[in-house]
Amino acid sequence: MIVLVLNCGSSSLKYQVLDMKSDDNYSLLAKGLVERIGEKMGALTHRVPDQDKYTVEMPIPDHTVGIKAVLDLLVSKEHGVLKSLKEIEAVGHRVAHGGEYFKGSALVTDKTQAEIEKLCVLAPLHNPANLLGVKAIKELMPEVPQVTTFDTAFHQTMPDYAYTYAIPYEYYEKYAIRRYGFHGTSHKFVAAAGAAFAGIDINNSRIITCHLGNGSSITAVKDGRCIDTSMGFTPQEGVPMGTRSGSIDATIVPYLAEKENLSPKEMEKILNKKSGLLGISGVSSDCRDIEEAAGAGNVRASLAQNILCYSIKKIIGAYTAALGGVDLIIFTGGIGENSAPTRFGAIQGLEYLGIEFDEEVNKGIHGKEAMLTKPSSKVKVCVMPTNEELVIARDTMNIVKSLK
Ligand code: ADP
Repeated sequence: MIVLVLNCGSSSLKYQVLDMKSDDNYSLLAKGLVERIGEKMGALTHRVPDQDKYTVEMPIPDHTVGIKAVLDLLVSKEHGVLKSLKEIEAVGHRVAHGGEYFKGSALVTDKTQAEIEKLCVLAPLHNPANLLGVKAIKELMPEVPQVTTFDTAFHQTMPDYAYTYAIPYEYYEKYAIRRYGFHGTSHKFVAAAGAAFAGIDINNSRIITCHLGNGSSITAVKDGRCIDTSMGFTPQEGVPMGTRSGSIDATIVPYLAEKENLSPKEMEKILNKKSGLLGISGVSSDCRDIEEAAGAGNVRASLAQNILCYSIKKIIGAYTAALGGVDLIIFTGGIGENSAPTRFGAIQGLEYLGIEFDEEVNKGIHGKEAMLTKPSSKVKVCVMPTNEELVIARDTMNIVKSLK
């Protein structure tokens, strides 16, 4: 089954076309990115495996025009990978927030669309953009079934004592304020793939997945189900990120707002866009720049690195307690897959758990699956590159197949 996977943001969209023969037998036909939607001039970058990338600039006033340009490219003579658009049997979308309603991926119907619409209040930057993709496909390919996969769905198995905040309960009832967690598709994928790689039965396992990228979250996975995760009501909570603060004492917010005469919106911008690695170092939000600056002796870049590693370590410790022990720790995401110093810094000192970390192996691992512990290690640590699009394509295929 040929599946088009779309990840629509407010001014950009990413796509992949996958030929899904089964869950594990698939091939990537093409992928790409449409940028600067709604600006004077937009851009489309299209990649076909083993071919040079193709970039075109053109005005892309909205998502429908952007998706139409992608569809035209997919069947074009020069850069196409399909004979006809009829070959696309299903479209899968990444959707940020599924609230408490979506506990797994769902076929797009009027009802599901209305539920996603309702959840825009919880993800005002993301869900509306995700919906634009759904609406564009309805317009361009009305006969093709669509499926939505939610960043929050994997975390819906958390027990109430893990997702409830200790604030007056009425705010949960009134405004649905609770921990939802994000990156669920990634955590679900790497937990399963990492367990298989480590030779561990996921149905009888204690796994901690560390998705570390521009946004970072860590999840405790027991027997394949999420029992806790570090992001919360929004992606703001947890470990420090590229530009997000991660968890801080909540009272800092009104204190600082008063001192600096800042509105709630301005405060949010500081915590979301100006904090984290960028805020501490003053150098960059990018882990590579931080590593370079720290290596050159920049003290605040070193501090940013140390805070990040220490925060990851503390959450690993907390989740080891929550899981009643740990069998496997998995690193993924741009930082998790590539940054040997971050992995080393986070694991260093956890030898008491039964981790025999192989520093030499760790140093050489960038963007590929690898075991980072010695064969005798009681607790295993590995790198597993994430593949959220594959999960979306699998879920889409399986849901659409079940309709037949
Ligand atoms: P997003 O959360 O936007 O999907 P990614 O998962 O792509 O982000 O992660 C981006 C982060 O990964 C950046 O901080 C970047 O510096 C980091 N990264 C990518 N490659 C490397 C590398 N070779 N060494 C260290 N960090 C890296």
